Amino acid sequence: MESALDRYDAFDDPSNPVPLSKIEEDCFVSELYHGPTRAFKDMALQPFGYVLSKLAQKRGEHYLIMAATSGDTGPATLETFKNQEGVQVACLYPDGGTSDVQRLQMVTEDAKNLKVIGVEGNFDDTQNTLKELLASEEFKSELKEKNIKLSAANSVNFGRIIFQIIYHIHSYLELVRKDEIKMGEKIYLVVPSGNFGNALGAYYAKKAGLPIEKILISSNINNILTDWINKGEYDLTTRTLIQTESPAMDILKSSNVERIMFDKFGAERTKELMDSLANNGKYTLTKDELALLREDFDASFSDDTECEAVVGKYAKNGYIMDPHTATCMRAYDTLRDKPLKTVVYSTAEWTKFSPAVSRAIGDEVEDDIEALKLISAKINATVPAMIEKLFIKPIVHTVVVKKDDIKGEMLNFL
Ligand SMILES: *Cc1c(COP(=O)(O)O)cnc(C)c1O
Repeated sequence: MESALDRYDAFDDPSNPVPLSKIEEDCFVSELYHGPTRAFKDMALQPFGYVLSKLAQKRGEHYLIMAATSGDTGPATLETFKNQEGVQVACLYPDGGTSDVQRLQMVTEDAKNLKVIGVEGNFDDTQNTLKELLASEEFKSELKEKNIKLSAANSVNFGRIIFQIIYHIHSYLELVRKDEIKMGEKIYLVVPSGNFGNALGAYYAKKAGLPIEKILISSNINNILTDWINKGEYDLTTRTLIQTESPAMDILKSSNVERIMFDKFGAERTKELMDSLANNGKYTLTKDELALLREDFDASFSDDTECEAVVGKYAKNGYIMDPHTATCMRAYDTLRDKPLKTVVYSTAEWTKFSPAVSRAIGDEVEDDIEALKLISAKINATVPAMIEKLFIKPIVHTVVVKKDDIKGEMLNFL
């Protein structure tokens, strides 16, 4: 019988869809990016897309899936739902806020049930628009008239989180299978985080009994999560979003933080904190709450210069990591109190961020295709066919709109 997890059979190696690479004596990289769009979003969206499509088809229902993307959710959502009956996808991306490869992955995706819309603004603006639409009674009733149900592909959707628990258990078991640890031995996980969905999956795995010493959160210079975990402060008022070489983590309003707080502090207190964030742009945890949070998490961040140094260092040894993964290495170096084995999550293939990688190895190439060529020649790395093809595929989605025009654009499509 066909199942949702069969979607992993289309990954590079069906018998080992998530390879674990040893890069230090006690540090292992779990490569979550061997799916069709070369980022970890495929891990959840491939099976989730299958489940939702089959459900829609079985019940004869019609869904509109909305996705706001900082670059990786978009391609993964389009890919998992393309040509699926009963499902239409509208995908919003911040124009200029993604890499070339990420943008091409979206705007060349040609299927009747897909709509890709560029939005003037950054990812937070795009995600806010999505959340407003999802909550809007007016928009919902317009959809109801057309008999369309609404859902989201972002990690605000819990269906996605469920599939993001599994691979944490898998990477632990890989360490056991490779005789690196004994069953029951504790390990650290390092999770490069934005919307905190990956980390939330790790948290649930830990709660379910997976022997995790701590979940170490890494960020780029948009390090609001570092302050939250280290100081108990979540403060938007002193920050503006900064564009970095790890754009999937250029986020200030991290959605799944709320779910951690709900689990730890209860519904009432979480509502109080989230109301404070909405009304005052910030909140502060009590000392006891912070201590509770730090039982499971610790955090650090790296800026772009530091990440380039990390990418350069490992590239010299023949291992290429992308800038998101590179933010993990500072957490690995500085946050471990115990000499335990550590799994670092690699959330994207370097091919999605090749100009940054080219800088890291001492060449300044701004153009994605030139950077891909140069790096693959220099380090003997392969560029997968689905990435190479992007540069010759015709562009089918050209719409870029202002925030206020999104709803209209969407209703047109429907
Ligand atoms: C989405 C993404 C992240 C952040 O994951 P969250 O679950 O949102 O914290 C990190 N790295 C890459 C490459 C991503 O695509």
